[in-house]
Amino acid sequence: MAGLRLEHIYKVYPNGTKAVSDFTMNIQDQEFIVFVGPSGCGKSTTLRMIAGLEDITAGELYIDDRIVNDVEPKDRDIAMVFQNYALYPHMTVYENMAFGLKLRHVPQAEIHRKVLWAANILDLVEYLDRKPRAMSGGQRQRVALGRAILRNPKVMLLDEPLSNLDAKLRAQMRSEISKLHDELKTTFIYVTHDQVEAMTLGTRVVVMKLGEIMQIDAPKNLYDYPNNLFVAGFIGTPQMNFFLAKLHKKKEKVVIEFMYSDNKIEVPYQLLSKVQPQYFNGETTVVVGLRCEDISLEPEVVKKSKEVMDVKISHFEELGNETLIYGDINMQGDGFAETSTRVIIKGTSNYGLKKGQIVQAALNLNKVHMFDQETEQTINPRIPTLNLVTAKVESGKLSFGLLTFTLPKAIDIPNGSYDIIIPTNALSLNKSKKENTIKLDSVEVIENTYLASIKQDQTQLFITSKEEIVVDDEYFLDLDFTQITFQKDNQVIIQALEEFDKMDAVFLNHATAKSFIQNKYDSVLEQRLASVSQKYQPMLDELNDQYQKDIAVAEKVDSKSIEQKNKPILEGKKKEIQDAINSLKNQLLLEIKELKDIHIKNNESITKEVDETYSKIRKEELDSFESFKQINKDRDAYRKRAQELHDFKSSFALEKQNELTKRINLEAVRYESEINTLKGNFKRTKDGLNKQYDDLAQQLRDEANPLTALSKKYKKDTKNIKKSFEEESIRANIIFFFKVNDLIILSNDSISNKMIQSLGIKVFTKQYIIEVPHNAYVLSDDGLDCEVLKILDYGNKQYLQCNMKTNVGDQTIYILNEDKKFSNLTNLKVSFDIAKVHITEKAMNIKIY
Ligand code: ADP
Repeated sequence: MAGLRLEHIYKVYPNGTKAVSDFTMNIQDQEFIVFVGPSGCGKSTTLRMIAGLEDITAGELYIDDRIVNDVEPKDRDIAMVFQNYALYPHMTVYENMAFGLKLRHVPQAEIHRKVLWAANILDLVEYLDRKPRAMSGGQRQRVALGRAILRNPKVMLLDEPLSNLDAKLRAQMRSEISKLHDELKTTFIYVTHDQVEAMTLGTRVVVMKLGEIMQIDAPKNLYDYPNNLFVAGFIGTPQMNFFLAKLHKKKEKVVIEFMYSDNKIEVPYQLLSKVQPQYFNGETTVVVGLRCEDISLEPEVVKKSKEVMDVKISHFEELGNETLIYGDINMQGDGFAETSTRVIIKGTSNYGLKKGQIVQAALNLNKVHMFDQETEQTINPRIPTLNLVTAKVESGKLSFGLLTFTLPKAIDIPNGSYDIIIPTNALSLNKSKKENTIKLDSVEVIENTYLASIKQDQTQLFITSKEEIVVDDEYFLDLDFTQITFQKDNQVIIQALEEFDKMDAVFLNHATAKSFIQNKYDSVLEQRLASVSQKYQPMLDELNDQYQKDIAVAEKVDSKSIEQKNKPILEGKKKEIQDAINSLKNQLLLEIKELKDIHIKNNESITKEVDETYSKIRKEELDSFESFKQINKDRDAYRKRAQELHDFKSSFALEKQNELTKRINLEAVRYESEINTLKGNFKRTKDGLNKQYDDLAQQLRDEANPLTALSKKYKKDTKNIKKSFEEESIRANIIFFFKVNDLIILSNDSISNKMIQSLGIKVFTKQYIIEVPHNAYVLSDDGLDCEVLKILDYGNKQYLQCNMKTNVGDQTIYILNEDKKFSNLTNLKVSFDIAKVHITEKAMNIKIY
């Protein structure tokens, strides 16, 4: 049982295909995770990276908090089930399931117990004596599952295991797999392109497109709250209806104006309060999504509804218990074309409607989805990210709703009215400050986040918090002014501070960097070497001291009498080991014989099968000729057909022989490989036993002759320490650098290792983007030249807005001026703390650190 952590995982195949991009997720122990998406979106590649069958280009994979990027597949405690079951055809179901255990020398009785246990879970008890060829696809897949669970893996990986089955079997196997997951209490990761499978099996589902994660969520959340147009369209059948529209906000109403249609509906703003406010401008095209069950033609519902639109009916699809009604909201449309005006409505019947008729449909706007047409991201998220409010600036104060804040000096703008954008997390609630008291209207808890909303006058605000918010408590509102954008007439007057300053960089080794820094870092190298030496020298000294002490004791030992005492012990062990090896050998011979018998039987049955198949073919051909003769009296046709028969007869023996040889050869390969596995296992066990004997003999010799033993041990220990010493010294002597414009910055070991692990030697030819947070800057004599343009004073925080000279022109950067220590400087030389930055490879856009 295990949890997994995937952190910024990328896969770029050698041919340059970027199959997986920035895959990040935590998988808890015992979860059932499904990766779903259209073919080629990177599901299998991700699964294969988890299994260890595919290298990870960049990023880290943890199983139970252990990084496993470089761990062999067999050492990952993972079992994988594929879509083609890969069973041994000559073995019974029982033998197929027992085989792996047998190879691992699990005792017979235990094998039996375990196979029965698995057979029970998978409902295979009555098929244990059957061969796979006499079983259905579903049964074979269950045997494959049985074989996988008998490995008792920490994680079960399933790659489209049901795609070879027909619809009925698939449904049945789905519930089997679900049951299996409940019983095994193991983490499952399941790949499928089928959204029904994903929605019914997963505790959480990862929807992927073109190598990227579109959304990770519980099935119901994917259905109810798709984050983007792709998920909205991919999940659910029939597909969600999408309409293009424009939104106009008029006081407490919003008008949704459907494009290519005369439909226009007016809805209370309350229903759309989470929609990002900048979309209410009546100009931006948005995609409105409604599922077929959220539009109704039921006369009673339509009569009561205020949100109705006209639909021209085009055709019906009867599904037995319900009816899909197709129509168009464009009165010229035909309801067939895949346009933004076609609509599919779910009904309990066809309500006696006729094709071509125009009727009113009621929309359930509680369930409406909206997306940006260009970015395809939702614009009415479950947790809003932005607030847009109209605010007034007057004599150094900012006010909106009933709230008034003193503007920090950094925000120096003329009096007047502004549209300001406040991210929800720039607002925070506190209980002590006694300014701007507010009354919350509601608090929702959404996936561990508290979302509070308040309404004052015309101003609606959303506030998020990870800490509990209680609706009836008294709170005071705080505002982080660095995150606020001020606009007037759609022009940005003050832009929120970006989180990072971005710079281009390259990565260099010491030799290359030397041409810029000469010997500047030689002392760093010396220090690194010295600290390694400080670690190892005392270890060597201590070892030597101990050696001297041990020698003094060892010199007093009476070797002869100890040798006498030990002799029978060693002889006893020798016999024990001999016996064990002999019995293993006998077992091996038995097992080989068993395999050989199976092999002979397999060859016989292959020969028989080929005989039968070819007799059948021959008979069919002869029968066909006979019946041809009966019906066809034409001489030429007869001659032609007779020639065909002749050709058939003359090549028949050879074809049959070829088929037989092919199958016999395949069987031989299988047989050889199994024999070799058995022999290999025997040899490993035998070597282990012999080593046990050698170790004991050595131990007894050492006891009798401690001086020799001590000297040997001392030499060995010294050698080991020296070896580590040397290795660490070599590592200490390798340092890397980033070059940002003319600034050379020493990289740290953890960054360098990640860079090299991700990109190998290509690391030196690539370009990087370095994102520097404002608190990472430090003054440095050989830093980049910066001129302070402005001091941005936000009260509790101060930033220096600086102009940095770069090789490609000037760049503005913002330095967090902690404790106001740089306040009186106008020209700075700055470097930054490399451990605080983010590093991204530019060409493939791989986040490395
Ligand atoms: P899925 O499992 O979602 O169908 P895959 O993970 O198999 O997708 O493939 C993702 C992308 O990587 C596809 O574009 C595919 O063509 C490509 N790909 C898969 N395997 C290789 C490979 N060995 N070499 C190069 N490209 C590959």
